[in-house]
Amino acid sequence: MPREPRAGNGYRCAGEPAADNGNVIDLSCALHRSWFIGRLVAAIERKISLVAAIPFPKRKVSQTIAKKELALLAAAYPHAVTALSYRSPFELLIAVILSAQCTDARVNLTTPALFAAYPTAKALAAARVTDVERLIQSCGFFRTKAKNIVAAARALVETHAGRVPETREELEALPGVGRKTASVVLSVAFGAAAFAVDTHVFRVAHRLGLTIGTTPLAVERDVTMLLPESKWRFAHHWLILHGRTICKAQRPLCERCPVRQLCPSASIVAKTRAGRGNSSAAGAEARRRARSTSRASKE
Ligand code: SF4
Repeated sequence: MPREPRAGNGYRCAGEPAADNGNVIDLSCALHRSWFIGRLVAAIERKISLVAAIPFPKRKVSQTIAKKELALLAAAYPHAVTALSYRSPFELLIAVILSAQCTDARVNLTTPALFAAYPTAKALAAARVTDVERLIQSCGFFRTKAKNIVAAARALVETHAGRVPETREELEALPGVGRKTASVVLSVAFGAAAFAVDTHVFRVAHRLGLTIGTTPLAVERDVTMLLPESKWRFAHHWLILHGRTICKAQRPLCERCPVRQLCPSASIVAKTRAGRGNSSAAGAEARRRARSTSRASKE
């Protein structure tokens, strides 16, 4: 089994060959690697568990309040648009597929080289998946995404003459395209009435008390019934931008929020923060006591 840290700042494996590799973590050793990854994961889990999650409100606000909240967001983000760079429905479709589990900024850094190499569905359909993997490897899950975008391009060529279809059914039939991706393409590329629910939209809609739905579809239904169809495609951007800039997952900036007077989560956030403050103060006190006990025992 791998040993505990040895003197110095590194680790060595019990089965390590005679040639000493010094005080470094030898990731070429499978046993050592799995031990190290285990320690790393445990450390990350410990860190995460220290941050108390902010609970969502248990009830929806009234329809009147909900509509006022959405009107305030509409006024706060009148020009909100997608952050993804694209020049055609084809590029938007590919960019949205790549954006799953990945930031839009990262996708925008990736797509110029991809679209320079494969500017059309026909070109991408003829690509080797391994070549595409190399171009998108900075995105999370790049192997699956490379497979999906090549397969989607082939489906576009075979079934739609290389064009992106304009109906939800046809879009959702493409590899790698689910309801959210289809909604983004329909609303952004074609101006259709669609409301996409991503992680920001899900969180902000809950915090504002617009929904208590547990699935993206339930959230979509709750939010769209508050708005005329003509506003659905804009509402998606209001909530995303608000989630990115103000109503952040771990540290919502309620003091700067234009909706705070109506938001049922403002008090929940304050209470959670107070709890976090208490637990970190208690932790600091415990560490201080442990240090002084250890000093006393040495003296
Ligand atoms: S008041 Fe706070 S929790 Fe509510 S929407 Fe604004 S930032 Fe989010």
